[in-house]
Amino acid sequence: MTDAKPDRSAWLKGGNSKCQAKPVATGKPWRLVLLGAPGVGKGTQAELLKARLGACHLSTGDIFRAAKQLNQNERTPALTAALEYMRRGELVPDSTVIDIVRERRGCLRCECGFLLDGFPRTVTQAETLETLLKEEGLRLDAVLNYELPIDLIVKRLSGRRTCANCKAVFHVETRPPKKEGVCDHCGGKLYQREDDRPESIRVRMEAYRKSTAPLADFYDRRGLLLTIPADGTPEEIFNRTMEALRARS
Ligand code: AMP
Repeated sequence: MTDAKPDRSAWLKGGNSKCQAKPVATGKPWRLVLLGAPGVGKGTQAELLKARLGACHLSTGDIFRAAKQLNQNERTPALTAALEYMRRGELVPDSTVIDIVRERRGCLRCECGFLLDGFPRTVTQAETLETLLKEEGLRLDAVLNYELPIDLIVKRLSGRRTCANCKAVFHVETRPPKKEGVCDHCGGKLYQREDDRPESIRVRMEAYRKSTAPLADFYDRRGLLLTIPADGTPEEIFNRTMEALRARS
């Protein structure tokens, strides 16, 4: 476990940002990929896993959301185009995502381990990750595949609220903040993501079915897939996750 909170600026900003994450004091660093349709609760599980395992939470969606805060002249044209895809709920082209992750490959080397969330999302991205890890002499420990029926997913997404400051995730019914509209952790303002609105949700589910669902087979063939039922409370899902990881280690 770490006392120091991993600083994600190296992941979010790329470039020359220096990672401040401190190595795990005990136990091994976990290198995990989180898979699952949008709204299945991956982000929440990533937060819980980060607290338990001390690994850095590396979300490609968070990189794009951070880029949204920048001025137009601080973004590359590719990043500006990526934000348009994101706004519509579509997947950002592989070439853009791969360039962004490649630029941040130092984060994969982190001695704290990592939790990749939202990447890879296509087989091409998964193949790239495999190559990058091989070049770094690293291996994935497991791929957590969260599964949930679609009507529950839609319910979860439409009630989801995200902290504008620290990105913590709440739900108006199942995980409400202590004070409405305010983050429990940092006091930031909670908002509904543009792509959590109904018209974008439909597009995102279709993108998942077509592009990301085949990744379960990809990782199953490599003996890495752990499928976790994602119904119940975040704590129940987390306990299932930890059991699955323990059974593996
Ligand atoms: P997320 O927070 O993971 O749901 O990502 C939000 C949005 O960012 C997605 O709907 C995509 O538009 C874009 N995005 C994030 N990660 C990727 C990726 N690996 N490949 C393509 N698009 C991505």
